[in-house]
Amino acid sequence: MDISVVIPLYNEVESLPELTSWISKVMDEHKFKYEIVLVDDGSNDGSWEMIRKLSEGNQCIEGIKFRRNYGKSAALNVGFAAAIGNVVITMDADLQDSPDEIPELYRRITEEKYDLISGWKAKRHDPLSKTIPTKLFNSVTRKMSGIPNLHDFNCGLKAYRKAVVKNIEVYGEMHRYIPVLAKWAGFTKIGEQVVEHYPRKYGKTKFGLSRFINGFLDLLSIFFVGKFAKRPMHFFGTMGVLSFLTGFVSIIWILSEKLIHIAHGEKYRDATSDPLFYIALIAIVVGFQLFLTGFIAELVSRNAPERNHYQIEEKL
Ligand code: UDP
Ligand code: MG
Repeated sequence: MDISVVIPLYNEVESLPELTSWISKVMDEHKFKYEIVLVDDGSNDGSWEMIRKLSEGNQCIEGIKFRRNYGKSAALNVGFAAAIGNVVITMDADLQDSPDEIPELYRRITEEKYDLISGWKAKRHDPLSKTIPTKLFNSVTRKMSGIPNLHDFNCGLKAYRKAVVKNIEVYGEMHRYIPVLAKWAGFTKIGEQVVEHYPRKYGKTKFGLSRFINGFLDLLSIFFVGKFAKRPMHFFGTMGVLSFLTGFVSIIWILSEKLIHIAHGEKYRDATSDPLFYIALIAIVVGFQLFLTGFIAELVSRNAPERNHYQIEEKL
């Protein structure tokens, strides 16, 4: 099998016939052996009945249906598990991505040996309220992820070498950060390709403005988890010790200042009327709590099932 096209969809019934016949047309023109994996993320508009109908007329169409709506990441994850092609292409079901891009994506994975090629909707057909925050989102993600060459992390149209999708786990709403997940799994040959982007033809978008808040929080957690999940104490411990020491040194300072004055028989202010006293107090308490957080996190990560999960590329 050359290509698996994985398509997560939620209430996209109108687009499905056009989408699948367009994909089949492109595949047949290029004589690819392919499958289309349609993952119905709990639609309630008849998408599943449509998928059933389409798959009867076409051997290459496979359907998976969730009992309820779990989100795009969950749908992708299940689609990835089912895919058997050497190259896996993901695309949205809403006809905003064009199947005509598939042959070039395939060529770059197979001939240029990329692990992942991410689409770049250089010219977008979306409202300004979406394109401006998206620019910001992408530039922050570029900086934090250390993948400086991607302009459009969240593009639905992407191509992967099979090993990539079999070795990453997309959960929560992490579909926005698949290139980051791939990089952390050791797949570093990540490229980009400018793709056409069309306005949504049927239905409406499934993600509101909350995507930007959630996306940003996810970025923080993915960054943190990627860096410190296996050694949380290094993060919390360092901060905790620094904070504790700052407080401790300040207390020593306050006390010795007072003692020196007393030794000289001078009257000196109460320790509690020194602003530094309160700062020191807080620093000690916070430092201690950070340290304890690190300790608990360490216990949690010790119990994580994937604590000894490594990417083994080859064995002889
Ligand atoms: N989608 C999904 N589950 C959801 C939400 C969306 O499978 O809970 C699918 C949706 O059907 C589409 C793709 O994810 O195929 C991208 O969604 P959408 O077009 O609404 O996002 P946008 O283009 O606005 O970023
Ligand atoms: Mg869309």
